[in-house]
Amino acid sequence: PSEPKKEDLQQITELMDGFKASKALFTASKLCVFDLLQSRPGLDATQVAQEIKASLKGTECLLQACVSLGLLKSKERTCKKPVYENTDLATRFLVSGSPFALHGYIQHCNDIVWPLFSHLESAVREGTNQHEKAFGKKSKDIFQDTYYNSQEVKLRFMNAMHSIARVTGKAVASAFDLSSYKTACDLGGCTGAMAYEFTKAHPGLSVTVFDLPAVVEMSEHFQPLHTDNRVSFVAGDFFKDELPKADLYILARILHDWPDEKVHILLSKIADACTTGCAVLLAETMLDGQRPYSALQSLNMLAQTEGMERTEGQYADMLSKHGFWSMRVVHTMNFLDAFIAIKM
Ligand code: SAM
Repeated sequence: PSEPKKEDLQQITELMDGFKASKALFTASKLCVFDLLQSRPGLDATQVAQEIKASLKGTECLLQACVSLGLLKSKERTCKKPVYENTDLATRFLVSGSPFALHGYIQHCNDIVWPLFSHLESAVREGTNQHEKAFGKKSKDIFQDTYYNSQEVKLRFMNAMHSIARVTGKAVASAFDLSSYKTACDLGGCTGAMAYEFTKAHPGLSVTVFDLPAVVEMSEHFQPLHTDNRVSFVAGDFFKDELPKADLYILARILHDWPDEKVHILLSKIADACTTGCAVLLAETMLDGQRPYSALQSLNMLAQTEGMERTEGQYADMLSKHGFWSMRVVHTMNFLDAFIAIKM
C-alpha cells in the first residue's frame, strides 16, 4: 500500500482526537478560564493556576491545549513565562456575560451529554437513551423525571437551551415573512429566548410561550431587561392539555425529542387548534446526509431523548398527514434550520 497522505492522516487524527478537544474546552469553561482572562488578560500560567485553584502542571497543559485549539493566544516573553489572553472566538462565545455566550450549553454538554456519550455503544445497540446507565435513574419522561427533578439540574438545562436559542433565534425568527400572523404560540418555548427574538423580528406579533409548569415558574429569571410585553407564558403539558389558540405554532427543537408516534399526537393536536391559513414553523437541524453537525446531533438525541433528528422530507411527510402544505425551508447556516408549512 502507498504511504498515507498528510491530509488523510490529519483528518483521521482530528476525528480520533475530537473528544479530547471537546473535553479541553468543557474543562477550561467549567474552571472559568475564559471569564478570568477576559477580566484580566495577560496572566501567566502560575497566576491562572492560582486563580482557578488548580495545579500548575495541569493548568499549563490546559492553557497550551486551548492555544492549539484557537481559544487562547499566548505571548512569549524573553526569559519569562508566556502570558495568555482570549481569542476573538472565545470572547464572543465563551465569556459568560457575552450575548452569544454558549457557557450554559457547554456546561450541559460536560455534565449530561458527556456521560451519556460514554454509553453510545449501548445506545446504538439498544436504540434507546442512556440516562439509566449514565445517572442510575430510570425515567419515563426525561424532562419531568430527570431534568426537572432538581432545581439545579433544571436551571442548568434551561441555561443550555437559552444559550443556543439566543445564538440561533434571530436567524430562525427572520427566515420567513410572518407579517400576516398576529399571534404565535411557542410550544416548549422554555425560557422564552426564541419568543423574544420573534417579537423583535416581527413588530406586529405577540407570542405565548407554552411549557411545563416547572419551566414557566422560572420565566422571570430569563426575562430580558427591555421587553414590551408581547411575550407571555402559559403552563401546561402539550400532550395532555388544550393548546393556546394562535395563528402560528412554533416548534423549536421539540419534534427531535420524540418518536414518530408522539410527534403525530402533537401535530394532530396542533392541526385541531388550527384554522385554514394557520402555520407551523419548525426550527430543527435537518439531516441531509452531509453535515456532521446534524448527524452527530442525531446521535445526541438517541443517547439523550426518545427522538432523533430527521430530514426535510420526513418532516414534510409528517406534516402533510395533518393537512399542512406549502412547505418552505431556509437553511440558516446557524444551529437550526427553519421550516414552515401552512394548514390547508
Ligand atoms: N424550544 C426551546 C428552544 O429551542 O430553545 C426549548 C427546546 S427543549 C429541547 C424542549 C422543551 O420542551 C423544553 O423546554 C421542555 O420543558 C419542553 N417540554 C417537554 N415536554 C413537554 C410537555 N409535555 N409539554 C410542554 N412542554 C414540554
